Amino acid sequence: MVYVYTIKSISPYSSSSNLSESVYDMAKVGNTNRRVSLREIAIHLFQEVKEQWTTDGEISDGLMRDLLTVFPNSLFPALDLVDHKAVTRLKSTSGRCVYEVASVSEQSYSCLLEANFCPCSSFHYSVLSKDEAIMCKHLLAIHISVALDIVSHIGVTNRSLTESLDNM
Ligand SMILES: [Zn+2]
Repeated sequence: MVYVYTIKSISPYSSSSNLSESVYDMAKVGNTNRRVSLREIAIHLFQEVKEQWTTDGEISDGLMRDLLTVFPNSLFPALDLVDHKAVTRLKSTSGRCVYEVASVSEQSYSCLLEANFCPCSSFHYSVLSKDEAIMCKHLLAIHISVALDIVSHIGVTNRSLTESLDNM
């Protein structure tokens, strides 16, 4: 497990004031002996993105810096996918969901958001093998697209959802 204390040491923006107060506030919530995982911070940041976007129609510089701190390598590639509206949510008649991330420059990937899984090589290398990141640019793009509500929705049969899972 990666912890908030690690973020400060690995971040290119390693001044102690870099992560905004809201993130530190979250780190102090509850049992002070409990360390907050990077994934919990990420989920908190996605919620912040949603709230700021809904309220202000934009994302603050501070929040962008926090995102860049947590996702130093994948934020900008993910935002590029978001800009191109690359995320589609396939929902089967039984209610199960798969997200597809498509781009012109590379193949499409079918991702499982709840399971935090993407079949791309970056996920296998950086997340599963090296434990250097908590998600790849595809999963990050899905989280941000969901937060900004710019996901295309397609209803599919259980069979075609199964087929897209088989192709993962
Ligand atoms: Zn991926």
